[in-house]
Amino acid sequence: MFEYAPAPESRDIVDIKPSYGLFIDGEFVDGTGAPFKTINPATEETLAEVATASGEDVDRAVRAARKAFGVWSAMPGSERAKYLFRIARIIQERSRELAVLETLDNGKPIREARDVDLPLVAAHFFYYAGWADKLDYAGYGPGPKPLGVAGQVIPWNFPLLMLAWKIAPALACGNTVVLKPAETTPLTALLFAEICRQAELPPGVVNIVTGAGETGAAVVNHPDVNKVAFTGSTEVGRLIARSVAGSGKKVTLELGGKAANVVFDDAAIDQAVEGIVNGIFFNQGHVCCAGSRLLVQESIAEELLESLKRRLSLLRLGDPMDKNTDIGAINSSAQLARVRELSDIGEAEGAERWSPACALPERGFWFPPTIFTGVAQSHRIARDEVFGPVLAMLTFRTPAEAVEKANNTPYGLSAGVWTEKGSRILWMADRLRAGVVWANTFNKFDPASPFGGYKESGYGREGGRHGLEAYLDV
Ligand code: NAD
Repeated sequence: MFEYAPAPESRDIVDIKPSYGLFIDGEFVDGTGAPFKTINPATEETLAEVATASGEDVDRAVRAARKAFGVWSAMPGSERAKYLFRIARIIQERSRELAVLETLDNGKPIREARDVDLPLVAAHFFYYAGWADKLDYAGYGPGPKPLGVAGQVIPWNFPLLMLAWKIAPALACGNTVVLKPAETTPLTALLFAEICRQAELPPGVVNIVTGAGETGAAVVNHPDVNKVAFTGSTEVGRLIARSVAGSGKKVTLELGGKAANVVFDDAAIDQAVEGIVNGIFFNQGHVCCAGSRLLVQESIAEELLESLKRRLSLLRLGDPMDKNTDIGAINSSAQLARVRELSDIGEAEGAERWSPACALPERGFWFPPTIFTGVAQSHRIARDEVFGPVLAMLTFRTPAEAVEKANNTPYGLSAGVWTEKGSRILWMADRLRAGVVWANTFNKFDPASPFGGYKESGYGREGGRHGLEAYLDV
């Protein structure tokens, strides 16, 4: 095996300020809550101090959004589109800066931030910019109306991409927004606020309030918010569903997952191995639709496991800013503790744990890519969402057994099928209770394609024409 020379991306392109305020009504303002620090999870270095929005600050943001709603919703769709196209182009122009900042604050490999997150973020804005003047033809009748002020709360795994999924359709439909990024990854949302100013977006159309769960709850529960969009854990999703019940607010929830990646004995093994690796080790497994349960047909289980282990031994874990890195840092010490706890439980319950030999950096939050074999469906490692680089492998004999096992989960976000037979793909896709079913691929995203779950994975769809419905009064 060849050694790679280090290929570090420079961080000089981003100018990280020592402290950040809230973005309300087109201005950066101080927050009245106690500020918090955001760190680089790969080094534990403090990157910046960030304001916490109190209930009072959230109220100010919602009032700004309400005022701006009058202007923004009255604007012709073709005018709103110009702003969204402008934002999309600025994102492309500043994509290296955004990618570096995302990697520093989140811990994901720069290669992924640069080649996956940022192109998708820009594509999302371009896509919904295209819809802004065509809403009459979206299938919701003539002249569909926006809802008003959208309160949006997002997680830390794809900070800027989740922001794009929330803000682009909301604005295209004529709503204004108050968005709260996750407390461990607020920096790219604040850089996005700067981009809104650069695009001369009317003040108050986008407001960014930073802080933790309490700030999120203040956004969700504000009486003048008309629509709540949440991506995060099922636990918090449940709280939100309860708190907005009966309030008349429209809600979409994008929650957790425990996807099955099903490999049949006629699948192209090398291709499947790449798909399995991409399915669970992309973004350190911090992916709601990650293929965290591998279901392999028994006759090829041994061969596949061997190939998978060989492939895992070649993954490079380390400095996320190095362009050769495949696996970056776990986003926070709290998340690392959860991944460790669930992995220890996996072992204690009798599953066999394997990781390739790989040195973990001394500072920062790290977990090696891990496979569990000998897993039973009752094991927590097969049921709970680990949200880390941990794969649970199970086997099956017949297609019917594969379906039974794949659907044996409270979640229903995504699934993968690997087989040479087109008819089997369709047969499986019909039976798998998952919002997205990938065939001979995994983790493929496109702004034109709707995404969302069944059961405890939430409700509503984001992306595509379907994603407009969540932001229209229909
Ligand atoms: P989390 O639910 O703890 O936090 C998500 C966001 O909600 C954060 O911004 C947080 O500050 C905020 N929040 C926390 N408590 C709140 C409350 N009571 N009211 C309002 N907001 C509150 O989840 P997390 O640990 O940050 O993210 C990981 C989870 O997100 C995983 O379970 C994952 O599956 C899920 N996720 C789902 C999708 C999807 O599209 N379905 C995408 C990404 C992540």
